Amino acid sequence: MRNIPFNKPANLGSEYGYVADAVKRGRLSGDGYYTKGCQRLIEEKYHAKKVLLTGSCTHSLEMAALLCDIKPGDEVIMPSFTFVSTANAFVLRGARIVFVDIRPDTQNMDETLVEHAITDRTKVIVPVHYAGVACEMNAIKAVAEQYKLKIVEDAAQGVHAFYEGIPLGTIGDIGCYSFHETKNYTMGEGGATILNCEDDFLRAEIIREKGTNRTEYLLGMADKYTWKSKGSSYLPSDISSAYLYGQLLESEKINTMRMERYNQYYANLRDLQDKEKFVLPYVPDNCTHNAHMFYLKTRSFEERCEIIAYLREKGIVSTFHYIPLHSSQQGRKSGIFAGEDKYTTVAAETLLRLPMFADLTGGDVDYICEHIYDFYRER
Ligand SMILES: *Cc1c(COP(=O)(O)O)cnc(C)c1O
Repeated sequence: MRNIPFNKPANLGSEYGYVADAVKRGRLSGDGYYTKGCQRLIEEKYHAKKVLLTGSCTHSLEMAALLCDIKPGDEVIMPSFTFVSTANAFVLRGARIVFVDIRPDTQNMDETLVEHAITDRTKVIVPVHYAGVACEMNAIKAVAEQYKLKIVEDAAQGVHAFYEGIPLGTIGDIGCYSFHETKNYTMGEGGATILNCEDDFLRAEIIREKGTNRTEYLLGMADKYTWKSKGSSYLPSDISSAYLYGQLLESEKINTMRMERYNQYYANLRDLQDKEKFVLPYVPDNCTHNAHMFYLKTRSFEERCEIIAYLREKGIVSTFHYIPLHSSQQGRKSGIFAGEDKYTTVAAETLLRLPMFADLTGGDVDYICEHIYDFYRER
């Protein structure tokens, strides 16, 4: 029997040399050599105007809420089918969350429902690119422009994925990446804030440096180092950044490894989809995804529980995903669902994620798929 975990952090081996070098350089705090190096790599590769590495995507989202100057009573529109940090970052600043339903094909926020959710208090729209498949950004941008709203992209899962050829995270006003160990590229815990508006560049550096102008001061652009605005410490250690540096240099290789496994899953399982046992992920033609995740949508909650247990007995870890935020304890206090929940709760109850990581082997994927076939044989 094989033993296949749900996730293994990417590790190519080249990371160690950079980590050792970071230690030798003797400057381990934020904004060191490798932090700047990663920022430059991301800026170059994804044509981002300015990138600031952070301690997590959660931190990047918190920075975004500060940059958008969220005040108590402001409303922020997002899907309910997302990770808690998408909402928490804005709730911490006093915002009310207005949740909208998702599309049943991509599990992304339904762009046609955004306009109905807008009120006089709306300030920001937060599209979440689920599984690295882009939200329908042209429609979301058009609504944001019409109502003068900001767009903060939660692109935690969307590094190296594209919408009409444009890298996710660089489309809205601010983009947020995650380099958590469960994401495609990692530094253990980490993230990046992608700044697409020049007005935010200096403000973002101040917010990330505890509300001080330390960065400007060190560059000789200010004669004092003082408290300028609200802020926190959102800098990563240079040791973590060095690990990520190695991965970013080999991002194509990691992407190819994941895409091969994704395509293999898809080819293997297609036949069961044709027999209507479950539904496989859908990627619209204008989206290039990054194989962040491979999931099935099962026919019922019960069947999903059974398949998780069945695969576990074969040494395979598969798992469900989000509990909708609007029905969670804090979500009920901090937000409301605008319109009808046609697809969010259904997705939460039926979506099953299969093992997906760079080191997953072709043999592993065949083994997993064989057991999925066995499970459905009598059903
Ligand atoms: C992983 C994830 C986050 C949080 O990322 P961290 O780096 O762990 O803070 C936020 N939003 C989404 C959609 C995620 O998948």
